[in-house]
Amino acid sequence: MRPNSELARAADIGVGKTGGIIVDDRLHTGTPHVWAAGDCVESRHRITGWPVVIALGTHANKQGRIAGTNIAGGQAAFGGVLGTAITRFQGVEIACTGLTEREAGAAGFDAVGVVTETSSKAQYFPGAQPMKIKVLAERGTGRLLGAQIVGGEGAGKRIDVLATALWNNMTVAEIGGMDLSYAPPFSPVWDPVLLAAGKAASRI
Ligand SMILES: Cc1cc2nc3c(=O)[nH]c(=O)nc-3n(C[C@H](O)[C@H](O)[C@H](O)COP(=O)(O)OP(=O)(O)OC[C@H]3O[C@@H](n4cnc5c(N)ncnc54)[C@H](O)[C@@H]3O)c2cc1C
Repeated sequence: MRPNSELARAADIGVGKTGGIIVDDRLHTGTPHVWAAGDCVESRHRITGWPVVIALGTHANKQGRIAGTNIAGGQAAFGGVLGTAITRFQGVEIACTGLTEREAGAAGFDAVGVVTETSSKAQYFPGAQPMKIKVLAERGTGRLLGAQIVGGEGAGKRIDVLATALWNNMTVAEIGGMDLSYAPPFSPVWDPVLLAAGKAASRI
């Protein structure tokens, strides 16, 4: 996929190396009275600080609201993106947030990736599904850099806990100690996110 920014180019509005329209955090293009939002713009990645184009409806909706607020004379700023995404294929839930191991390396991070195999519910509970979490942390600081999840029903949306931690610059040790809920129909006693973060913390 690539951004459809031809209209901007034709109007001499700045387009970045990503192919997305360059905007400030208020989504103004720099050209008087012209604002841009959604798949056609580049956004600041919160971990690398780099401009990126990650075409998601989650970003487009927030940006549309922010651009609209500013156009109408209000003050709103877009906080950047992590690229948190989720999908399901043949019953398998797949989700990610932040950087992959390859992206972290390319961005100059000394990253440690740790894979944890666990279960979506208490293992003895009917309907428990296997799931895997990969957590990526910066060696030295222990800061979370990204995570991916794959597994059965109930696995994928756990990415949002990790996305929240990532948004707030938490370390894997801090995440491993968070107070997350437990009852057998929902989770093992050690929630998969706690297990994965704790394992990553031990590794680094
Ligand atoms: C199959 C599919 C599934 C997706 N699933 C998800 C999902 O599960 N979760 C998620 O977060 N995101 C998902 N997305 C991404 C999401 O749909 C987009 O990020 C979002 O729609 C972008 O919104 P937008 O307003 O920037 O662009 P669009 O929705 O593409 O709207 C742009 C509009 O501008 C119009 N337009 C273009 N050029 C001109 C012109 N010159 N003059 C006038 N009008 C013009 C287009 O016709 C279009 O109506 C999915 C995308 C696809 C294709």
